[in-house]
Amino acid sequence: MIDSSAFQGKKAKYYTLGCKLNFSETSTFGKMLSDMGVLTAEKDEQADICLINTCSVTEVADHKCRQAIHKMVRENPGAFIIVTGCYAQLESEKVSQIQGVDLVLGSNEKANLIQYLNDAFLHKDDDALHQYHSVKTKDIKSFQPSCSRGNRTRYFLKVQDGCNYFCTYCTIPYARGFSRNPTIASLVRQAEEAAAEGGKEIVLTGVNIGNFGETTHESFLDLVKALDEVDGIQRYRISSLEPDLIDDALIDYCSRSQKFMPHFHIPLQSGSDEVLKLMHRRYDTKLFAEKVMRIKQQMPEAFIGVDVMVGSRGERLEHFEACYDFLNSLPVTQLHVFPYSERPGTQALNIPYVVDEKEKKRRAKRLLALSDEKTQAFYAQFIGQEKQVLFEKAPRGKAMHGFTDNYIRVELAPAMAREEYDNQLMTVRLGEFNHDHTALRVQNIVEE
Ligand code: SF4
Repeated sequence: MIDSSAFQGKKAKYYTLGCKLNFSETSTFGKMLSDMGVLTAEKDEQADICLINTCSVTEVADHKCRQAIHKMVRENPGAFIIVTGCYAQLESEKVSQIQGVDLVLGSNEKANLIQYLNDAFLHKDDDALHQYHSVKTKDIKSFQPSCSRGNRTRYFLKVQDGCNYFCTYCTIPYARGFSRNPTIASLVRQAEEAAAEGGKEIVLTGVNIGNFGETTHESFLDLVKALDEVDGIQRYRISSLEPDLIDDALIDYCSRSQKFMPHFHIPLQSGSDEVLKLMHRRYDTKLFAEKVMRIKQQMPEAFIGVDVMVGSRGERLEHFEACYDFLNSLPVTQLHVFPYSERPGTQALNIPYVVDEKEKKRRAKRLLALSDEKTQAFYAQFIGQEKQVLFEKAPRGKAMHGFTDNYIRVELAPAMAREEYDNQLMTVRLGEFNHDHTALRVQNIVEE
């Protein structure tokens, strides 16, 4: 039983590290606490409860998590400190030993965060300190539903969690467990609630979204079709899809849908087949290129973002050059470049060839330059064209920003900006690049 009277008027602070999924989950925890009467502490106020949602994607992420925990403890003496998320799952005992941490919840237990918090908070005595609850990866079964507001315009709907792939460099399956998902019906309800609050755009998030349906014997395409029917939501984006799980039927459906945007994000990781094998990825460059070409054939204006890892174990110079040439040859729009980071417990540590840090940086720099070239060329094609843009709130007197269907960032000069454009889909004519080349300026508004 939750005793919400004990929480009335208490103040909480939240700190999130990592991916959109974590942000979405933290925001849901925040909403649950607020329903119990907990207020959000201002930046300079001391909180009674602090929640840190951690990430463990790299060694640097682990370090940042420890720093964030220490900072919360230092700045909020006497507060009840809860740590959850991937780092909390992988290093529960270690995290629970950090001075000031009261409760550590692994990936399975975070779904019951409110119950755990209630029990420990009400009985905060010496026995309650340094508690940790986490189960082995294979036993992570719970699903924490989350639909968070990025801003009033965009919502992040978690449709799936966990992963069964076990790529050799990745700790996510250990931290988040095997793939699982809620029902299509429950996700449609969440989308309807977002629409009722005035949400216009939903980003479908997850760890390996294409795996959707294994738990409920439904399919990702069926989910897409069901969401397409929700009144009020005008745009959907899919945060990321593994290449081997991008069905041709899904591409074809998105190309006909008015709501699923011509915007894809596909993790490639390496453009060398030898490295892909070392990574235990489930596709080769041929399949990846076929998927990209099919998307472009059906949706010539589509924006395609690609994740690439540089300097992974086994990536010799010739492999990197093959990866560069492969990406250069494809009509992709933007590269998200990640330098490889060694993770304890991963199979990649058995691969003998190691790339030094300096060389990793050099490779990352080259790919980032290629990414810039491709993004600029993509944007430039649309200068002078009419496009629909969904504008987002901006402080008075500042430029407003928004995105086209195909994810071009658009800037509306302060002199043209109006409060009523916030969360509105408007047709504009796209002008030249803005001052730092991060957006195209609005030349004129065609239709409100
Ligand atoms: S698909 Fe591979 S890289 Fe992505 S989460 Fe699963 S194991 Fe990690």
